[in-house]
Amino acid sequence: MRIRGVIFDLDGTVVQNDYDWTRIREEIGTGATSILGYLDSLEEPERSTKWTILETHEAEQTEASVLRRGVRELLGLLHTRGIAAALVTNNSRKNAEFLLEKFDLAFDCVITRESGLWKPSGAPFLEVLKTLGLEPEACGVIGDTHFDVMAALDAGIGAIFLLSDEPERFAGFPVEVFPDMDFLREHLESLLAA
Ligand SMILES: [Mg+2]
Repeated sequence: MRIRGVIFDLDGTVVQNDYDWTRIREEIGTGATSILGYLDSLEEPERSTKWTILETHEAEQTEASVLRRGVRELLGLLHTRGIAAALVTNNSRKNAEFLLEKFDLAFDCVITRESGLWKPSGAPFLEVLKTLGLEPEACGVIGDTHFDVMAALDAGIGAIFLLSDEPERFAGFPVEVFPDMDFLREHLESLLAA
């Protein structure tokens, strides 16, 4: 089936920044599980204190974010071909809107954590499919972490494209890894032309 929609991750994919998730997880006191799920399970006052830790790091990284090279060109290609572009992030609406405005980017559908639908669950991706009226087979996902892969697989989306300098991190996963957005755009162009 031809791809008619692409779901982008925000941090590390559309914009680049330098989240130290190991340190953040240590500061918050969660293990390898979902930070949002952990925070959500806490009682006050611990809940507010630990949310503030996450939000402080996010504010810092949002401020420092730069647009990834090639994003504008890829969005332009999708727009020209009539392919929908969605953004799904575990970040807040405030930070997502700040970045979209700062870099003058537009998506057909934006889902942030206020939805209560968080990666690595496939729920936020299923919400995009519903909004855009697409089947999982007609959609691709572009991300940079295992959470993106897990969410895509959970939603039944098989076209998973990752941006990473370390393809070995994703060995064994049914994904295609690209060193940068230009290589990915070329690949998508050939896919769309096929
Ligand atoms: Mg990311």
